[in-house]
Amino acid sequence: MLFKEERLKTEFFKMDPIVRLMAIHFEVLCKEYFKITPVCTRIFDDIKGATGVHPAGRAIDFRNETGGKRMFTDEQVKFLVSEMNKRFPGHDNLATCIHHSFNGGPYHFHIQKTLGDKYDKDLSCFDYHK
Ligand SMILES: [Zn+2]
Repeated sequence: MLFKEERLKTEFFKMDPIVRLMAIHFEVLCKEYFKITPVCTRIFDDIKGATGVHPAGRAIDFRNETGGKRMFTDEQVKFLVSEMNKRFPGHDNLATCIHHSFNGGPYHFHIQKTLGDKYDKDLSCFDYHK
């Protein structure tokens, strides 16, 4: 994956490891299905009015819109959001992956681990052959 700013690379290795795993899975989907390299735009940065999940190191954003142009088609967005939520159900009522625009900003994918999310300690929930 690419990082909008160099410092995001450092942040990537400081964030919640499950979210890092989610981000890597997102990258695999983008590359394997669409030959698109995702661009990380935000990890720890806070935005006024947001939930605080970013400063807590439990969320990562990937670009869809830049300069008024979209990187992914609506069908691709639908596929990615659906695959991510299937792979990482989180076991609470909050989605792991959403595609949105916050406070009129550019459209992006927001991937998060919410406080109610539970994953197996042995990570067998990520077994691709299940
Ligand atoms: Zn976000």
